[in-house]
Amino acid sequence: MRDVVILGSGCAGWTSALYLARANLKPLVLTGAQMGGLLTTTSIVENFPGFPQGVDGTALMAQMMEQAQKFGAEVEFGVVAEEVTLRKPFHAIRVGNKTIETKALIVATGAGHRHLGVPGEKALETKGVTYCATCDGALPMFRNQPLVVVGGGDSACEEATFLTRFASKVYLVHRRSELRASRIMAERALGNAKIQPVWNSVVESVDDVKEGKVTGIKLKDTVSGKISTLGCAGVFVAVGHVPNTQIFQGKLKMDEAGYLQLGPGSRTNVEGVFGAGDCADKVYRQAITAAGMGCMAAIDAERYLAG
Ligand code: NAP
Repeated sequence: MRDVVILGSGCAGWTSALYLARANLKPLVLTGAQMGGLLTTTSIVENFPGFPQGVDGTALMAQMMEQAQKFGAEVEFGVVAEEVTLRKPFHAIRVGNKTIETKALIVATGAGHRHLGVPGEKALETKGVTYCATCDGALPMFRNQPLVVVGGGDSACEEATFLTRFASKVYLVHRRSELRASRIMAERALGNAKIQPVWNSVVESVDDVKEGKVTGIKLKDTVSGKISTLGCAGVFVAVGHVPNTQIFQGKLKMDEAGYLQLGPGSRTNVEGVFGAGDCADKVYRQAITAAGMGCMAAIDAERYLAG
């Protein structure tokens, strides 16, 4: 029987773990499959306070983990919660054939990449379709080749800018005629001579004329309806995220997109279950706000346990 278990190992999970460890509650962190969460798929994080030179996303997650462990947080690496039974006074988490019982549970499961859902996308994953430029951008298959980034947010701009290190050219395909990204990210991307925006365009399909690897995409102009093709060796999809809350469907209150609905504070609709970070935030979705939510969940859980 644990006092508190934390699901997730991004900014929210580690911050919860740090606070609860310092409160002597020996939190257990189940990291999930992607240790460190989405921040490990970015390169330099320039807007986390305290790092004027920026900080590598993976390094930041490693430091947060180290800090939580220093005060007694326990960590099970690569462990994914497969099923949860939420009922007071003890919640149960099934992991393989093991069940972990806990008085309090913090859900900090983050979000995953949204897919385009067009023909060819799934079949060509790992063959040129990818969701992470920092993970895959330097692969030989993408070097000195034209590449496509899809999306108009901060992620798309960051990925496009990063990919100019390797690509011969980067097409930034966006469904509207202006970017959603913050001004600094947008200006950096649009000011890069290697990046060519392709406005008012949606991907109709990802194609592999030569079979087995991406050779181009089919585009539809959202204004004229005209279909065109664009040759490329890689398609980097950066069209937002979906919250990782599937195992809580029907158990925790969430909106139609699957984001946990919280309040007051970090409380979910089930007593003793708290939410934090990107799985419960479709508005801010920043590393620093996730960390703040993790802190709130830890304080709420601590008070719940004390009560
Ligand atoms: P986002 O802000 O939600 O942007 C998603 C983009 O994809 C939007 O431009 C959207 O178009 C487009 N899109 C969505 N569904 C689409 C579809 N089916 N087909 C084509 N395009 C589609 O997501 P994000 O860029 O991943 O950013 C998420 C959060 O992380 C944001 O809060 C962002 O500020 C933050 N972030 C920050 C940094 C940084 O500061 N270093 C870096 C990365 C991310 P519309 O514009 O038309 O809606």
